[in-house]
Amino acid sequence: MPLERYVPPARPSLIGLSRAALLDALAGIGVPEGQRKMRVKQIWHWLYLRGATGFDQMTSVSKELRGLLDRHFTLARPDIAAEQVSVDGTRKWLLRLPGERPDAPSHEVECVYIPDDDRGTLCLSSQVGCTLTCPFCHTGTQRLVRNLTAGEIVGQIMIARDRLGDWSGSHPSPAPQGPHLSPPPPAGEGKGGGRRLITNIVMMGMGEPLYNFEAVRDALEIVADNEGLGISKRRITLSTSGVVPNIVRAGAEIGAMLAVSLHAVTDKLRDTLVPLNRKYPIRDLLEACRSYPGLSNARRITFEYVMLKDINDSLADARALVKLVRNIPAKINLIPFNPWPGTRYACSDWEQIEKFSEVVFAAGYASPVRTPRGRDILAACGQLKSASEKLSARERLALRAMAMTD
Ligand code: SAH
Ligand code: SF4
Repeated sequence: MPLERYVPPARPSLIGLSRAALLDALAGIGVPEGQRKMRVKQIWHWLYLRGATGFDQMTSVSKELRGLLDRHFTLARPDIAAEQVSVDGTRKWLLRLPGERPDAPSHEVECVYIPDDDRGTLCLSSQVGCTLTCPFCHTGTQRLVRNLTAGEIVGQIMIARDRLGDWSGSHPSPAPQGPHLSPPPPAGEGKGGGRRLITNIVMMGMGEPLYNFEAVRDALEIVADNEGLGISKRRITLSTSGVVPNIVRAGAEIGAMLAVSLHAVTDKLRDTLVPLNRKYPIRDLLEACRSYPGLSNARRITFEYVMLKDINDSLADARALVKLVRNIPAKINLIPFNPWPGTRYACSDWEQIEKFSEVVFAAGYASPVRTPRGRDILAACGQLKSASEKLSARERLALRAMAMTD
């Protein structure tokens, strides 16, 4: 089946355009050349610092230009199909993305916000489905339908900031609401009490971000831009199943933190758990990790390791794991397997996870698995859930382990 393309609407959204593309868009509607740079700066400010949802809010832009912009463009974010809020502040949004043709079915991806004492992490999707077929991953059972655009990736953060009231300064007007949404708090009055709520971004939702390279790169450029969304690259983590050539490219062109889904310590097992290993085996993967630019004790690669009962969770595996990553500045995230209907895998027993993590800890790596905070649980990364489904404590634990990449 061929991949679907994203077909922009007649009035496209300006969200996700690079500064250069925004400049071209202004040229295209006849904004005089001498004004364009200044207008780009203004629009950028309203979009990414203030969270404007309509051109009428851009009070520093002339009324005439606001009208012109409104005739040609929108500031639309993806539609929110459902929102779930947990008592501990975890939130999940199910987002609806358009199909290729107006009469074609729409698609859904997830975006999850996980607050913690010292940070707030937003988990983003990069593709609808995935080309890869890791057998323990629910997304791996779905074919790749299409890549998200840079605008749809940035749009996930815009929506989260809208809904959390996480824009700086006074928000020009309330963000759009739907019948299924409660009103968001006014900006600056979110639970952060002046502190930014979204401090970290992880690309750990649906899809393989390094197989949607350009859109992810362009989106993260806006996310990290000081005058844009302003989340530094040290606080952005790209999770990959190990697309070796694109890890090298990401080091050169993106420069975010890297998380690698290792999950097995031998090629034999990893060929099954992460089939991409047949193309890029562990040796090549670790070599790419070792050469990743800017690594230091403060800037480590995170190795993700999903705990699958009787598959990869022996203490011999734990010892081999720490040996494997020994010469790389590394963190190890043990992720309790998050079961889904029909899966042939089970999560390791809690005692085994603890023993495994003790071996990892004794080798000098902090053990990131924590107990869940509550039973009222609503969110998971790495697999698509239906809007009404509630998650188990274990799912929540998996989510938090994944988010712990600081
Ligand atoms: N495609 C990328 C990023 C998305 S998946 C990747 O594979 O790295 C994010 C993380 O969730 C990966 O480490 C993935 O292996 C893990 N994951 C997927 N399904 C899971 C499940 N059911 N339980 C626990 N972790 C899972
Ligand atoms: Fe794709 Fe990552 Fe799931 Fe593997 S784990 S199928 S790469 S989303």
